[in-house]
Amino acid sequence: MGLAIVDLRCPRNLDTGVDWSSAPEYREKGAGHETELQDRHSGIVGCGVSVSRVLFDRIASGGHDLSGTLPTVRQYIASDRRRVLGQVQVRYYGYNGFVVEGNEYKVVIDPGGDLYLLRMRPVIPRTEWNGVTHIVVTHGDPDHCWHVDRVAEASGAPVICGTQLVERHESRWFLASPRARKLEYTTPIERVVPMQPGEATRVEGIDIRAIRTEHGPLRLSMLFGLIHKEFTTEADERFALGATGFVLDLDGVRIATLGDSIMLPEWQTLSLDVLIIPIGGRKAGNTMDEEQAVAAVALIRPRLVIPCHYNCGFLFRRTANPADTERFRAGVEALGVRCAIMVPGDELDYSSSDSDALP
Ligand SMILES: [Zn+2]
Repeated sequence: MGLAIVDLRCPRNLDTGVDWSSAPEYREKGAGHETELQDRHSGIVGCGVSVSRVLFDRIASGGHDLSGTLPTVRQYIASDRRRVLGQVQVRYYGYNGFVVEGNEYKVVIDPGGDLYLLRMRPVIPRTEWNGVTHIVVTHGDPDHCWHVDRVAEASGAPVICGTQLVERHESRWFLASPRARKLEYTTPIERVVPMQPGEATRVEGIDIRAIRTEHGPLRLSMLFGLIHKEFTTEADERFALGATGFVLDLDGVRIATLGDSIMLPEWQTLSLDVLIIPIGGRKAGNTMDEEQAVAAVALIRPRLVIPCHYNCGFLFRRTANPADTERFRAGVEALGVRCAIMVPGDELDYSSSDSDALP
């Protein structure tokens, strides 16, 4: 029987304002917040932060009237679905910038700067910086990393990144300075969790696994093709620094972000709910294009795919790395995998227990 669906802790402190202790089936165990709940009608029992999946389904669907016995469960679910374990909200801000928020965490992915007209406006808006609990950085390029120290300072959250992105000097950590032209580790950073691909750790309640990714070479063509420039990791030590992917386990929802990667066959072993994948590499070559990303989805077979890092601004172009999102969506859906095309500012709720929540 599936467990861990509803959080029943702190019944009197819920922001619903409901006093759980009035429910006859509710009783508190000891001085802690552990609770036990029993549905007398069905005999289903849930303990601690868990209620049986069957009970949850009945409550959520309304097919079983529990109003006389468990009024607060239904009110609780209806009033604040995000507190239901197994549910996250994903907000997209362009490039590889996401905020993933759920029960007791708020993860920011790649708080870089907007390269359109080189304004370097924060990809993740400042209004999101408060309350951030984790900052995940897939590599050190400006569109992924420009504001990372600022978000860290505003939030106090730890930075989770590849090992090459930081150095330790005399018991202090320093970040490869996000806004420096050259590679220099001069930006102090209070809290950092450097990870190598293959490593797994738990950071403030979230299980995180680092996976190998590979940033493709970046081919730029400017001034109507008069100027060509190519960036590679061999020629430029600053380029694609610390490229690493991360799998985040958020209340049982497993989400992966790959950064600017080309396709790697080894991802076949991943088991994911949500895959965030770049698709805008057709012209620039720095990431997968639509077809390569579909091939990666075919390997990984997640439950939901969110494409990113396409139509990003660069210099005078608003959409420097165009992608055909409908072609990508068709390719993904042909595999029987759901696909959510998000534009900057969009949000979606994903639930591992309720497929109706998907877009
Ligand atoms: Zn990028």
